[in-house]
Amino acid sequence: MSVRVRYAPSPTGYQHIGGARTALFNYFFACSMGGQFLLRVEDTDQGRYFDEALQDLYETLDWLGITYDEGPQKDGAYGPYVQSERSDLYREYAQKLIDSGHAYYCYCSASRLERIRKIQEANGMAPGYDRHCRDLSEAERQELDKECPHPVIRFKIPIDGAVTVHDELLGDITRECKDINPDPILMKSDNLPTYHLANVIDDHLMKITHVLRAQEWVPSAPLHALLYQAFGWDMPKLCHLPMVLGQDGQKLSKRHGATSVREFRAKGYLPEAIVNYISLLGWSLDDSTEFFTLDELCKVFTLQRLNKAPAVFDYKKLDWFNGMYLRKLSHEELLGQCMPFLLESGLIKEPVGKEITDLLLQAMPLIQERMHYLSDAPQLLAFLFNRPEQYDIACAIPKKMELPAVMPILPAAIEIFSHLDAKNDEELEQECRSKADALGVKIGQFLQPVRVALTGSTVSPPLFGSMRLLGKEESLVRMRNLQGTLEKQTS
Ligand code: GLU
Ligand code: ZN
Repeated sequence: MSVRVRYAPSPTGYQHIGGARTALFNYFFACSMGGQFLLRVEDTDQGRYFDEALQDLYETLDWLGITYDEGPQKDGAYGPYVQSERSDLYREYAQKLIDSGHAYYCYCSASRLERIRKIQEANGMAPGYDRHCRDLSEAERQELDKECPHPVIRFKIPIDGAVTVHDELLGDITRECKDINPDPILMKSDNLPTYHLANVIDDHLMKITHVLRAQEWVPSAPLHALLYQAFGWDMPKLCHLPMVLGQDGQKLSKRHGATSVREFRAKGYLPEAIVNYISLLGWSLDDSTEFFTLDELCKVFTLQRLNKAPAVFDYKKLDWFNGMYLRKLSHEELLGQCMPFLLESGLIKEPVGKEITDLLLQAMPLIQERMHYLSDAPQLLAFLFNRPEQYDIACAIPKKMELPAVMPILPAAIEIFSHLDAKNDEELEQECRSKADALGVKIGQFLQPVRVALTGSTVSPPLFGSMRLLGKEESLVRMRNLQGTLEKQTS
């Protein structure tokens, strides 16, 4: 039987990086086994529904390069793949459980449930439904139906015995039935199923063979096993993925940094870097291989190489991957990736003409080595488009120097760089060094005011290259401008 797995997110928020990991591992597993990968939207909790979540889900999968064989926008033989479009099915199957004596109607009001909760609390008992409606007679039921036409349906957890589920990673998990929260709701009064019922029915009907999901669902597995038993169905194989923690050992959250894929994307991470880094969250091929493309992962991924121990999300390591991937891009590719950020920042406007495109393309080699994120591009390239209007004098004065000693630097630099077009970088550098020596300053000190003059900042792309892009005249204008500012300061 060929492998069929699914990613089954609930659209309650933006796609979390942990969810993306679940999606990717399912996807890798499916392709490595020559199986199918499904996307199923679990949206039966209408109260928690979040409008933009679906759009975000599709965009995220697309951006990461994950394609699915069956799902909401790609119908297969087992659709629809959005649970809210399947409610009749769930009702039908809930009815089967009622008919077979595995489920029952519960008419308890919210106030009654609240009352028993308080009593349980006062007596130090575990909270849970008291199975009040479990053994109602048919006559009692009909009477209650009149007062409460929309009862919920609850599942009969066996009073005795135990369930064991096998997890491919964690081994056997056994739970005493008495320790399972009594009689969970399967169908709510709004006629929609709860997660447990819908999830089990869909995994069965969609012929899912393996459930790879987050470890937070381990406690639900025994209940699911009981549901499968009640329906008389085989349970798919289970594999709960290692947790993803922040460096402090807590569940990864906002406190640690970006958590939604869209935040990473907005910050300027490349999808290749995200995919590569995520693939190592709880999985490895061996002790040394670090670089993987999506296609490679589709070939080499195995459940056997999952780790039991929780994975720690290391933002620095992700940044490192991002840098590596940024440097692998051709200049054309890099520009293509930077373009949305440059437009978004307002540095350039659409339509971007050929002249600007060429200029930017020539600038790519200058910034490629210095970028951590694509979002660094606008700041690194701003000098190409904006002549600094005013200067921060403090920036222009190198460490351990005073203004008077800085004054001769720019006139000397102006003299040297007036030959910009006639000399190569080595020659220019040599001249700068000799001049710096003559002035008794270090080369870094000599070039600092020049850099500030051109870009307004002490950090910039390589100086000579930047100057060539700006052009000799513009570069000299900027040096004179800063010199003017410095002179005003001394007069
Ligand atoms: N809808 C559940 C979630 O949001 C799916 C859990 C599962 O994969 O069974 O995580
Ligand atoms: Zn009840």
